Amino acid sequence: MKIICIGRNYIDHAKELNNPVPKSPLIFMKPSTALLTESKPFYHPDFSANIHYELEVVLKICKNGKAIREEFASAYYDQIGLGIDFTARDLQDLCKDKGHPWEIAKAFDHSAVVGDFKSKNTLDTSGIKFQLVKNGNIVQDGNTNDLIFKFDYLISFISHYFTLQTGDLIFTGTPAGVGKIAIGDHYEGMLEGEKMLECKIK
Ligand code: ZN
Repeated sequence: MKIICIGRNYIDHAKELNNPVPKSPLIFMKPSTALLTESKPFYHPDFSANIHYELEVVLKICKNGKAIREEFASAYYDQIGLGIDFTARDLQDLCKDKGHPWEIAKAFDHSAVVGDFKSKNTLDTSGIKFQLVKNGNIVQDGNTNDLIFKFDYLISFISHYFTLQTGDLIFTGTPAGVGKIAIGDHYEGMLEGEKMLECKIK
């Protein structure tokens, strides 16, 4: 399986990092070794002094597809959950300055935290509310209504370059409010008020 991530898909987040708002989806990937599931703790690596959390709505692909047309895209995912895209912001800034790829900043081990999933049919996918709670305080508060590129468009766009396969995950982008993690932090991801994800930093 592969993890496909979308960068800068909420205007307020692109602005908070002084990035331009993209005209087409900004895509990067993480390998399967980036996955961290079952509420296991995240051990802070020593190669970064500024790892950020980014809470995102995650789509789980349920059938193989290539060059999927947008009007058929919703048949290719059946479950929705939450994930944290851990980002070594200091390494990412160095990569950006040099014009290098982002992999060491974005695709390192356990950089893709994934919680529980719900059936897509139980949600109104155009307006999913989701929140990240850090040590008891809400630090990110998003709504998929604010996505620049919506789920069906993303699936169509991605599948023109990469064949989607059952089990692949799409991280659809983070809203504003990203910030630095610290050892001892406790994170909870809420989807329509229901806890779907939990992660402690060790
Ligand atoms: Zn992200």
